Amino acid sequence: MDTLPPTTVPQEPAGSGCHGGRETMLAAAKAAGKSEVMDKLAADYPRGPHDQPQSMCPAFGSLRVGLRMRRVQTILSGSACCVYGLTFTSHFYGARRSVGYVPFNSETLVTGKLFEDIRDAVHASAKPEECDAIVVINLCVPTASGVPLELLPKQIDGVRVIGIDVPGFGVPTHAEAKDVLAGAMLRYARTEAEMGPVARPRDMVDGDRTIALVGELFPADPMGIGALLGPMGLKLAPATPAREWRDLYGALGSVAVAAVHPFYTASIREFRAAGRPIVGSGPVGVEGTAAWMDAIAKAAEVPAAALDAAKARLLPAIKAAMAAAPIKARITVSGYEGSELLVARLLSEAGAEVPYVGTACPRTEWSDADREWLEARGTHVQYRASLEQDVHAMLDAKPDLALGTTPLVQKAKELGIPALYFTNMVSARPLFGPMGAGSMAGIVAAQTKGRERFARMVSFFEGVGTPDRAGYGFAGKPEEPAGFRDRQRKLRAAKAKAEEAVGN
Ligand code: SF4
Repeated sequence: MDTLPPTTVPQEPAGSGCHGGRETMLAAAKAAGKSEVMDKLAADYPRGPHDQPQSMCPAFGSLRVGLRMRRVQTILSGSACCVYGLTFTSHFYGARRSVGYVPFNSETLVTGKLFEDIRDAVHASAKPEECDAIVVINLCVPTASGVPLELLPKQIDGVRVIGIDVPGFGVPTHAEAKDVLAGAMLRYARTEAEMGPVARPRDMVDGDRTIALVGELFPADPMGIGALLGPMGLKLAPATPAREWRDLYGALGSVAVAAVHPFYTASIREFRAAGRPIVGSGPVGVEGTAAWMDAIAKAAEVPAAALDAAKARLLPAIKAAMAAAPIKARITVSGYEGSELLVARLLSEAGAEVPYVGTACPRTEWSDADREWLEARGTHVQYRASLEQDVHAMLDAKPDLALGTTPLVQKAKELGIPALYFTNMVSARPLFGPMGAGSMAGIVAAQTKGRERFARMVSFFEGVGTPDRAGYGFAGKPEEPAGFRDRQRKLRAAKAKAEEAVGN
């Protein structure tokens, strides 16, 4: 057993948690010995206009990546309320697997006993017959308190142990939290592969030249991309995030990597360390697919004749699918999945006017081609978009359809603007190659047709459920006591004046 590290754990920061103040938590984490971790997170996931996550707890991204892998067990270390929310969400999304939890209280946090408890839990869980790896995730409070997961054993009886810090005050989105774990796993697997023989990836065929996709894609999309690669003599390597440990070796053994989702900074660092060239953007529409195939052919050294033959065979099918499903609408796009620019590009090529695309993810070189393509067509591209920016853009653009996050869709519907939830409705359909080409037209047409119905609903419900009538229906709300608001306003003014006098 390792020796317990000297206790460097400060008291739990006041007001800790999502809304406890990023600076306070960050200062606590650095004081507790996590400077290096926090600096790396800040470099990999630069912040934007908003300082705190505006969607779900970021750690959900890491948790989900671990839960989706075969023979991988995930243990959370964090406040019970955070763990409750995270496990609830993971089961809502069909985890069908237990999530480990090491609880703590002020005493175990302050004395360093929490670290011992985590280490004991890892030892108890490390059964080689059941798992290949155990992932331990430090949430906000244990990260801010410096719980040193790096001191956990690297492996126990052949079961790898991976400890990561995924605090909401250091990782802006759940999308990037997927990369925190995927990157840590790739790093571990790359080191193993460098040291000697490793398990053979499932379905690996000697001599195959493969491309590794990076990003959680709609299930049919890898097949669509595989159909583009086949005529170039290429196949798909296992995707990142991986579905089982040995997939990591398969991905690292590819000839090139397609960063279809452009925010996997840590994962791409590992692929680069393994000597793999990286290709950004994705095969959307005719132009996007042609450019992507060119880039893949260059990275994988595909002969020009094979590339030309592949394009001649595939691009006309995509062109025909796009022509058969034109889109005539003004659409704003916002989301936090990382595929927003690709969706906007597909819509735009299909004929839609796309004045704005906002993504909660940061700008990276792997979406540069999409950004330039969109900007050349007058689209405003906003990285690290805040909800406020997305709403403002929607109000400004007055679109026929707004694609966005839950609060944006809610706002749009209040205003009678047809809207679709990006994650469930847009990310859940094919985007790439011939299948993706016609996938959006039907849903856009169905939604924009509903505009007139929305307008009727807005006028029918006018005033119902809006701020000071919330909770009251058509029976009318109770009468306000006469002069109530006026008296309250005067009281507030008097209080502010008194406080100002005390301050002076
Ligand atoms: S772990 Fe997640 S839910 Fe908990 S305080 Fe941090 S960001 Fe919020």
